[in-house]
Amino acid sequence: MTFDAIRAQIVAFRDARDWDQFHQPKELAMALSIEASELLEHFLWKSTAEVEQRIATRREDIADELADVAVYLIELADKVGVDLPTAIQRKMAKNALKYPVEKAKGSNKKYSEFTEEGAS
Ligand SMILES: [Mg+2]
Repeated sequence: MTFDAIRAQIVAFRDARDWDQFHQPKELAMALSIEASELLEHFLWKSTAEVEQRIATRREDIADELADVAVYLIELADKVGVDLPTAIQRKMAKNALKYPVEKAKGSNKKYSEFTEEGAS
């Protein structure tokens, strides 16, 4: 299934229910954040081993939350006129400039720390 087909499915689902009137950018951004929090609930207060166990035993529930996040993300991007695949490609190009392999490989530093490293 292509990205455009998925986007069209999301929009058709919304429009069949006449929900566009409720799905304003602010509401979609809030829904996106709420769904991301529902995803986080699966991991809250758990050790690394417990998280691994949770993923193994609740993979479908976690997939549902990931899908909820993606659905609101795709709908919000559509609503504000952002072509998400293009935006992702553009941002990844920016990330590649911020995090060149020769500086970032194997490092957990933020890009702003690279210059501090060079200055010291
Ligand atoms: Mg959810």
